[in-house]
Amino acid sequence: MHFATLASGSSGNSIVVGEGNRSFLVDCGITVKKVLANLEMLDISGTQLEGIIVTHEHYDHIKGVGALARKLKIPIYTTQAIWNEMETKLGVLKPEQKVIIERQAVLAGMDIKLIATSHDSSESYGIKVEGSQFALGIATDSGIVTEEMHRNLQGCDAYIVEANHDVDRLWQGNYPHFLKKRIISNRGHMSNVQLAEALRDWLSENTQKIVLAHLSAENNTPELALTTVLKILRESNVRKKCSNLRIRVAPRALPHELIVLGK
Ligand SMILES: [Zn+2]
Ligand SMILES: [Zn+2]
Repeated sequence: MHFATLASGSSGNSIVVGEGNRSFLVDCGITVKKVLANLEMLDISGTQLEGIIVTHEHYDHIKGVGALARKLKIPIYTTQAIWNEMETKLGVLKPEQKVIIERQAVLAGMDIKLIATSHDSSESYGIKVEGSQFALGIATDSGIVTEEMHRNLQGCDAYIVEANHDVDRLWQGNYPHFLKKRIISNRGHMSNVQLAEALRDWLSENTQKIVLAHLSAENNTPELALTTVLKILRESNVRKKCSNLRIRVAPRALPHELIVLGK
């Protein structure tokens, strides 16, 4: 299984996941030009993409979805509730490009399971991807760690997970009060500490990689996210259990190197 974030944060999110020469995208909140350029940096051609799955209808997740689906002639997968909110924003699609899923799907030969997160959109989901050998847990845009996240994200081989903000930095920062309250609410975004405490419960001996994603440019820094998560994992001794664990931070506008599990 291979994966990478192509862009991450409030200016646009997209993740590529696949196995062999088959891949799909989770969200496309950046332009077609940008997503194809970023895929090329990873040596992945647009023609390898078999679909786009959408986690929720916010602009930073759907900006390029319609245009990319048209260009590559690929389907878009999401739930009825999210389709209801986003369809008019995507432009003209062929009927077969609109795929309504409930909680499960198969994309590029991999099993996909939607996991409810808690966010201020119609619905919002994390995703568990199960390939032939490995499982990847993806969860961003959630104000709390939901029961479904806890139940489904234990023991994955890899994670792409939200470390949006540092709570003190957020309160002391320049955001208007209503926005601070929105971010910190149960339907906002996950803080570094919230995420680290969840990971402490989820990680197992087989966990190899964690990518910290959807970092706020104002209310977090890559160093702060990484040191907070590492500190909490070290204190709990979970770090010792996962001897192969590597943690990285997703860049905002560029991909990180393609992670290939098993190598
Ligand atoms: Zn969102
Ligand atoms: Zn978002």
